[in-house]
Amino acid sequence: MRAFTYQRAATVAEAAAVAARTPGARFIAGGTNLLDLMKLEIETPTHLVDVNGLGLDRIDATPDGGLRIGALVRNTDLAADTTVRRDYGVLSRALLAGASAQLRNKATTAGNLLQRTRCPYFYDTNQACNKRTPGAGCAAIGGFTRGHAIVGQSDACIATHPSDMAVAMRLLDAVVETVNPDGAKRAIPIADFYRLPGNTPNLDTNLRPAELITAVTLPKPLGGRHVYRKVRDRASYAFALVSVAAVVQPDGTGRVAVGGVAHQPWRVPAADAALPQGGQAATTLLLAGARTTEENAFKVVLVQRTLDAIVKG
Ligand SMILES: Cc1cc2nc3c(=O)[nH]c(=O)nc-3n(C[C@H](O)[C@H](O)[C@H](O)COP(=O)(O)OP(=O)(O)OC[C@H]3O[C@@H](n4cnc5c(N)ncnc54)[C@H](O)[C@@H]3O)c2cc1C
Ligand code: SF4
Repeated sequence: MRAFTYQRAATVAEAAAVAARTPGARFIAGGTNLLDLMKLEIETPTHLVDVNGLGLDRIDATPDGGLRIGALVRNTDLAADTTVRRDYGVLSRALLAGASAQLRNKATTAGNLLQRTRCPYFYDTNQACNKRTPGAGCAAIGGFTRGHAIVGQSDACIATHPSDMAVAMRLLDAVVETVNPDGAKRAIPIADFYRLPGNTPNLDTNLRPAELITAVTLPKPLGGRHVYRKVRDRASYAFALVSVAAVVQPDGTGRVAVGGVAHQPWRVPAADAALPQGGQAATTLLLAGARTTEENAFKVVLVQRTLDAIVKG
């Protein structure tokens, strides 16, 4: 690990300002992803701004009947929150499908959204990776692609986004609230938060330098049946091959989002409209234009069967 300096910020404004004026600075929350990447020297921050003391750990009702989740709320606390369990069950289930109890005790809402890909070539610093080193090439393309993206990928990167929580957040139309170093606040719909890789796979999101996430808000509850199904190689402690988040109403209408298939949680409005026609119809629209390899073509079938099972209840 490279040497770095550390400071615990006392206010949101201070955290963003320090990060902006210190070249190579990064925020640290639970540290469960960033520290691993620092040990491997994939991430090499020169200064860590600890955001754990900013008081961003509350879950509050919003005036319009939704929920505001502080950026520092731990994954364990969010999954166990009585309002989340009652009104946003898909979010609670997605959180509990992720990582392990120990990791969820440390992992935060913002950190989970910003965790980096689990592409094995990204983690192996002997391999070419455009996400790690822009312009270096992509060892995954032409390599072993069982876990890689089947939609939205580019010639520069075929990685998937690994977060379970983010799939539920995308399903629920969450909005990411931020503060910039100049004090300006932004509310970014999660549909605009993540990027597709294009020619700049090093950029996972549309956050600006030193922009601090303060909260994530959810609109008022949707009702219906909330489902999160994660299909993986082991029953626990493994990332998704594919995951399907869905809210299904008694009349069969609903919405669906998929994880493990793209560089971002994947949602297609036309597929929501096709849900009453069954899993196959919805999957055809969800994964339209999929570009698969021999090793990951199974993901199309897996999404379809998982969605079919969800629709049938
Ligand atoms: C063995 C293992 C298994 C796992 N399995 C799963 C799994 O199955 N599913 C899953 O979804 N996840 C899984 N995870 C990932 C885990 O959920 C993430 O590491 C965790 O959620 C990251 O949160 P954190 O608070 O620790 O983030 P950190 O590591 O502290 O930070 C992550 C990133 O977020 C940035 N950041 C943090 N807070 C803010 C903020 N407020 N504003 C702006 N930037 C910020 C940091 O600068 C950093 O870039 C696993 C992790 C491990 C180690
Ligand atoms: S798929 Fe993306 S993350 Fe993986 S090696 Fe290629 S550029 Fe890197």
